[in-house]
Amino acid sequence: MIKPPPLRNDCFALPAGTHWTPVDEALTTLRDRLTPITALETLPLDQAIGRVLADDVLAKRPNPPLPNTAVDGYGFAGPIPEGPHVLPLVTGRAAAGIAFEGEVPAGFAIRILTGAALPRGVDTVILEEDVTCDGGQVAFHGPLKKGANARRAGEDVLASQVILSKGRVVTPADLALAAATGHAELPVRQVLQVGVLSTGDELVEAGEPAGRGQIYDANRPMLLALLRQMGFGAVDLGRVGDDREALRKRLDRGAEQVDVILTSGGASAGDEDHVSALLRQAGAMQQWRIALKPGRPLALGMWQGTPVFGLPGNPVAALVCTLIFARPAMGLMAGAGWAEPQGFLVPAGFEKRKKSGRREYLRARIRGGRVEVFASEGSGRISGLSWAEGLVELGDAEAHIRPNDLVRFIPYSSFAM
Ligand code: AMP
Ligand code: MG
Repeated sequence: MIKPPPLRNDCFALPAGTHWTPVDEALTTLRDRLTPITALETLPLDQAIGRVLADDVLAKRPNPPLPNTAVDGYGFAGPIPEGPHVLPLVTGRAAAGIAFEGEVPAGFAIRILTGAALPRGVDTVILEEDVTCDGGQVAFHGPLKKGANARRAGEDVLASQVILSKGRVVTPADLALAAATGHAELPVRQVLQVGVLSTGDELVEAGEPAGRGQIYDANRPMLLALLRQMGFGAVDLGRVGDDREALRKRLDRGAEQVDVILTSGGASAGDEDHVSALLRQAGAMQQWRIALKPGRPLALGMWQGTPVFGLPGNPVAALVCTLIFARPAMGLMAGAGWAEPQGFLVPAGFEKRKKSGRREYLRARIRGGRVEVFASEGSGRISGLSWAEGLVELGDAEAHIRPNDLVRFIPYSSFAM
């Protein structure tokens, strides 16, 4: 099994002197620096579903492999001119998988069933519904074009044609195509394993009694489930308090276990922001101040060779940063290439003014052909994440959006969520 080279320690470095990095610049940096890090393996078709293809796949044989009939009927040499025709039948028949070995002489016809290879001397087929047959001969009306109701060899796929491209995520239909063209197994990449770690003294586990001032860890269940939906391996690295040593140990263990770590909380530059402090100590951390709402600081770094995405603690910001930054980055590391989420221009059902100099994502959904946004933009409003069915993306420039202006709506499904 081959393992690609690890990422460089400085892979998250931003150009020096940048104050607030525009979203597109941050994305370009990730896109340029990151490379696939998952190992390659070969899997039988039934286990390859959902995997990223490690290489182009070429057809081993054409589809269909031989010229054959698309219908049940009678085969002969075409074309057949206009007017009535009577052709004597040869003895025997051609059926799918049971070839007729002889040759059908000119002026004769043969009984032939769907999928049967065309016998020598046959290139044209008439539907059985369109003939009368007395057992010894068939009568029908022309005209019939040469090749009617027949499939040419390779008309679907030629031998050696690329049927599936490197980086594609294998679908059920791809398995049909691979099987039909002679494959029993596919070259794929191992699943990118992503660890999820929550940080903060205030957090307690869902279902446990919560003391005064404590809140339930909402990010971990969300992020673990999201990663699974996106086709990554989701590994629960648990929850640690605001304790640098505990966090260090957990990151050490995580780095051995997974390919990428997502943390939430503690990513800013404050006293209790231990994720960013530790990554800074490790000498391979970048505080990304991205011109993004909701978002704020994102701490990107390498911990013992493992990339760490230090997401903001607020669930809304944590989700938006995962969808906008972590997802395409993880897709690249998984070997699937860079995925731009598919957005759609939809008339706004709201009014909003925004400042220049930062990108904004609003929790949104479509009702009655217009996009409505959640009443509050507060990044602690988890109910709005659940209310929404996607995000509205507002560009970096100043804007005044009025009802019925077209805005870019990105459904959650475009993020595989
Ligand atoms: P921090 O980024 O650590 O400053 O956290 C920002 C806000 O998000 C604070 O109000 C935290 O209590 C909250 N927060 C942090 N982590 C989580 C979490 N896992 N679930 C819910 N809220 C969180
Ligand atoms: Mg915190």
